Amino acid sequence: MEQTHFTYQKEFHCSCGRTHRTQIQDILIEKGALRHLPELLKEYRAQKPFLLADKNTYEAAGQKVRDILTAEAFPLSSYVFADSPEPDESAVGSCVMHFDVTCDIILAVGSGVLNDLGKLLSHISGKPYIIIATAPSMDGYASATSSMAMDGLKVSLPTVCPKAILGDTDILRQAPRRMLLAGLGDMLAKYISICEWRLSHIITGEYYCETIAGLVRKALAKCVQSADGLLGRDERAVAAVFEGLITGGLAMGYAGISRPASGVEHYFSHIWDMRGLEFHTSTDLHGIQCAVATLIAARLYEQLPLIPLNREAALLHAASFDYEAWSLRLREFLGKGADAMIALEQREHKYDPALHAKRLAIILDRWDEILSVIREEIPPSSTLEQLLTSLKAPKTAAELKVDPATLPMTFAATRDIRDKYVLSRLAWDLDITRRLMETLNGPQTAKE
Ligand SMILES: [Zn+2]
Ligand SMILES: [Zn+2]
Repeated sequence: MEQTHFTYQKEFHCSCGRTHRTQIQDILIEKGALRHLPELLKEYRAQKPFLLADKNTYEAAGQKVRDILTAEAFPLSSYVFADSPEPDESAVGSCVMHFDVTCDIILAVGSGVLNDLGKLLSHISGKPYIIIATAPSMDGYASATSSMAMDGLKVSLPTVCPKAILGDTDILRQAPRRMLLAGLGDMLAKYISICEWRLSHIITGEYYCETIAGLVRKALAKCVQSADGLLGRDERAVAAVFEGLITGGLAMGYAGISRPASGVEHYFSHIWDMRGLEFHTSTDLHGIQCAVATLIAARLYEQLPLIPLNREAALLHAASFDYEAWSLRLREFLGKGADAMIALEQREHKYDPALHAKRLAIILDRWDEILSVIREEIPPSSTLEQLLTSLKAPKTAAELKVDPATLPMTFAATRDIRDKYVLSRLAWDLDITRRLMETLNGPQTAKE
């Protein structure tokens, strides 16, 4: 492919000692990127594409894709969802049943859900996959997983990376305003995720790569610098967000873990989604939820230097922690989604007092370093708040129609979502969960 202004490395030997790779062959982010599609298909020796879209994305770009391919005499099969599909069994079933097995490549036109369905269909059929993005709304374009609802649970299924990502800024700019904000929100989350990756490196010795963190920081800074142009659909601002999201996805692929792109703020969003599935509470776009949770997390991190630490109290708290009672509360709060979290603890033993004591010793020993990492990575919450205000983006749980009274339990439950060391685990290790939540919501009675 001819060179476009977004560049990335397919493979590089890194100073962290690892070789980082991605399977994605082409990423085109530019005005009019769609016109390169026939060229790409020829390069991949694809002769008959299968086009997957929904009513909205077909209007946004699907028809244009059809026109471009028809002009180049490509035969084409397609399936267009009549509505916006949910990422569940029913939608996967429709994709599979409408799939034309004589096609040799899949083209999905859309954003989060269509991309997840396209990756899954590619994985099932073994046919390569190209995503034509219609919104810079989340960072899943470059990832090799599909975020799905399965058996009423939110799961992340291992699928495949796209062979190519096309981000045509003429199309991306036209995305609904909320999707543009969501994309920025998924990027703002990276302030927290990079910080927590470093903190985990200090506290648990988890692998960390400064080169990858640097890529994400740089992409995030570019988004924030041009963010004021987002509402006006400024091409540069939209491209910066899309490039940032692709960089976040690439970074996860390079690192082989989600650390570069998601931290405790993603777990807030995850819990809101889980409760939405289980109890039909309100949910919003992934990135909109991430933005609100990033602001919450930034405020909580700001409190850390102000809270007195007490080694003996923390040791006593861990020794007397009643996991049985806690797992009952998780079940009550999250329903059947809690089962996977409880199973995870059986493998992980994060609440084991001996492991806690080891972590606590490191935390107290390296507390100044921990605080300076936080200062380096996370901007003042007032700055984040101003940014969200200027973009007229939601800033509070209440604006997401999430009951603010559930925030303390949400924060506490983020400890158990994945086997990742995040703020809520640090708070548990120091026995300051309740103190932290008080600063957010006024005095709380929630037990931990
Ligand atoms: Zn590295
Ligand atoms: Zn995300």
